[in-house]
Amino acid sequence: MPGTTLFISDLHLCGARPAVTGLFLDFLHRRARASDALYILGDLFEYWIGDEAVEQEEFRPIVLGLRELTIGGTPVFVMHGNRDLLMAHDFERAAGVRLLKDPTRLDLHGTPTLLMHGDSLCTDDTEYMTFRAQVRNPAWQKVFLEKSVAERERIIRGYREISKSSTAAKKPEIMDVNQQAVESVMREHHVQRLIHGHTHRPKEHVFNLDGQPARRMVLGDWYEQGSVLSVDARGWVLESLPQTPKSLEHVNAEA
Ligand code: MN
Repeated sequence: MPGTTLFISDLHLCGARPAVTGLFLDFLHRRARASDALYILGDLFEYWIGDEAVEQEEFRPIVLGLRELTIGGTPVFVMHGNRDLLMAHDFERAAGVRLLKDPTRLDLHGTPTLLMHGDSLCTDDTEYMTFRAQVRNPAWQKVFLEKSVAERERIIRGYREISKSSTAAKKPEIMDVNQQAVESVMREHHVQRLIHGHTHRPKEHVFNLDGQPARRMVLGDWYEQGSVLSVDARGWVLESLPQTPKSLEHVNAEA
C-alpha cells in the first residue's frame, strides 16, 4: 500500500531452501512493489563470501529480483547481518540497493525509530561478541577477501558448523538481547522505538524507558514462512507470510 514501509530480516536465503527464495521473489513482485520502501535488517543471505556471490547461481535471481524492484522505483535499504556482513559496493550496484549502517536512526512516519540487526544487543553471549568483534574488524575482512573464493567458502562452511554446535549448547536466554543494552542504545539515539531481527523471536515488547513508554519490535525469520513488519501513519503490524503455490511458481520460472 502507498504510505507503507516494510521491514524484514533473517531470510537466510541460499540454494538449499529454494521455496523460501520463491516466497521472497513473490513478496518483491507484489507486497514490496506496492510499498513506499523496503528495509532488510540483516541476514538476507545465509552466507556471503564477498561480492563475487552476486554472480553465483543461488544468489543471482535474488539480486535480479531486488534490481527489478529498485528500477521500478521502490527504494530498498539493506543492513548487514552476521551472516552477510561482507555485502559491499558491487552488491549495492548490482541490486540497486543502499547499504545501511547498524544502527540507523530513521524518522518513520513522524516517529524517530532505531533500526538494528540485533546481534550487537546479545551482550550476554560473550563468546559470540568476541567472534563478532573479530569478523567486523576491517583488517580481518581485508585478509579474508584476499583469499580465493574456494578458500573463503571452506572457511565459512567451518564457521557455520561451529555456529550450529555452539548455538545448540547455549542456554536460550544467553542468545536473546540484553535489556540494558537495548535501553542504552535507545537512550544514546534518543528514540522510544526500536526494530531489529537476529534472535528469530518475533514479538513486540512494550516497556518503560526513563518514564516514557518504549517499544521494541523483533522481526521473525523466514524458515517455515515469511515475516514482515508493515508500518504506516497509524502504527505497525507484524504479519507472517504463508508459503503459497504461487511462491513456488517463481522458483520454477526462475530456476
Ligand atoms: Mn543474525
